[in-house]
Amino acid sequence: MTLTTSPGAHSDTGHRRPLNPHDFIDIEAFLSDDERLIRDTVRQFVRRELLDKITDAYTAGHLPEGFRAAAGELGLLGMHLTGYGCAGTSAVAYGLACLELEAGDSGLRSFVSVQGSLAMFAIWRFGSEEQKQQWLPRLAKGTAVGCFGLTEPDSGSDPGSMTTNARIEQGRWLLNGVKMWITNGGIADVAVVWAKTPDGIRGFVVPCDTPGFSTRNVPSKLSLRASTTSELILQDVSLPAEAVLPEADGLRAPLACLDEARYGIVWGAVGAGRAAFEAGLEYARTRVQFGRPIAGFQLTQEKLVNMATKVNTSLLLALHLGRLKDSGQLHPQQVSLGKRHNVSAALEVTREARTILGANGITSEYPVMRHMANLESVLTYEGTAEIHTLVVGQALTGLSAFR
Ligand SMILES: Cc1cc2nc3c(=O)[nH]c(=O)nc-3n(C[C@H](O)[C@H](O)[C@H](O)COP(=O)(O)OP(=O)(O)OC[C@H]3O[C@@H](n4cnc5c(N)ncnc54)[C@H](O)[C@@H]3O)c2cc1C
Repeated sequence: MTLTTSPGAHSDTGHRRPLNPHDFIDIEAFLSDDERLIRDTVRQFVRRELLDKITDAYTAGHLPEGFRAAAGELGLLGMHLTGYGCAGTSAVAYGLACLELEAGDSGLRSFVSVQGSLAMFAIWRFGSEEQKQQWLPRLAKGTAVGCFGLTEPDSGSDPGSMTTNARIEQGRWLLNGVKMWITNGGIADVAVVWAKTPDGIRGFVVPCDTPGFSTRNVPSKLSLRASTTSELILQDVSLPAEAVLPEADGLRAPLACLDEARYGIVWGAVGAGRAAFEAGLEYARTRVQFGRPIAGFQLTQEKLVNMATKVNTSLLLALHLGRLKDSGQLHPQQVSLGKRHNVSAALEVTREARTILGANGITSEYPVMRHMANLESVLTYEGTAEIHTLVVGQALTGLSAFR
């Protein structure tokens, strides 16, 4: 018997879909109808209602007007959770929503990530029934905002070194400490705060109007400007005994929340990269120098090919990790690999796109430099690129290089 290897033996070219520069490896074909519908709904929402506003909001240093309520109405907040007014979508559908939001701005995706995957997930996964009933429906609708306080001024990559503490006094919890770099902090109604207790690290549901709780926004950010980032100050914050998250015991609980949120980043970064690639492609086709569009020069084509390759391979990786998550097979270390790769790749895409745009690339008239600046935060938060390198390194070698 001989095996035939004639060209085209395994393909029916008559049925091949046309090549699409905006979806080069045809990921579209691997999405379900439901996933496409959610993706298209969020894409239209971003393009019709947010893109016009985002540059001004970014410059002014806040989310676009009306975004929070609109995101709640669309069902984007906690969309991958079940019950309590949450949509209960697949992980892939949630990822696609993150991608489309971050194609608008990382600040939009950050709001949805922190609300849904950090504040809401912490309560949904580790909270009491009363805590869930009290907060999840309002957080899902966007009538309340949540934040997640783990990082401190002197405790970043090593959250186990936190000094915020909680002790029982006369049957009530008393919390003291400072949290730093907290997304949504200054606009939050409820904060999930992690603190050291005599029994180890525990999580607390802290209504932001509790006496002794105050916030101060981080001034002069040059990245993620469309997102509020704040310091949380806790001075003798007195809470009832039931304010503790009963199922969260030790550092593993906040790390599980971060794992949820950084899964969204794996997808979101693709959106920021895609937006930069599309801006670069469009500009290269229309910008004429030396008598021809700059897209016709080999050096520009190499840049566009590099960018398209990074966007496509990152999306493929995100989709694969999403399918693993939906089948219950995803490991945190695989999410680390995805976050590390996709954020770095997106940053490289934005930097290359910026060069194609020449001087125009440094202005806010084009989205490229805004995405680039945003991705510097994304590279650092939810575990820095270096920390994820160590996570994957440990998984590969069995040796920890953290200390
Ligand atoms: C815009 C923004 C929003 C944020 N939102 C939140 C939020 O909502 N909630 C929250 O709790 N936190 C939030 N963070 C904080 C974020 O998670 C931390 O910034 C991050 O964990 C890193 O901590 P650090 O900035 O203190 O850096 P450090 O931990 O001080 O690290 C500084 C550098 O040292 C490197 N490094 C540290 N340890 C090692 C090691 N063992 N080996 C090699 N290199 C190492 C790091 O990779 C980094 O390059 C946010 C941050 C930003 C910028």
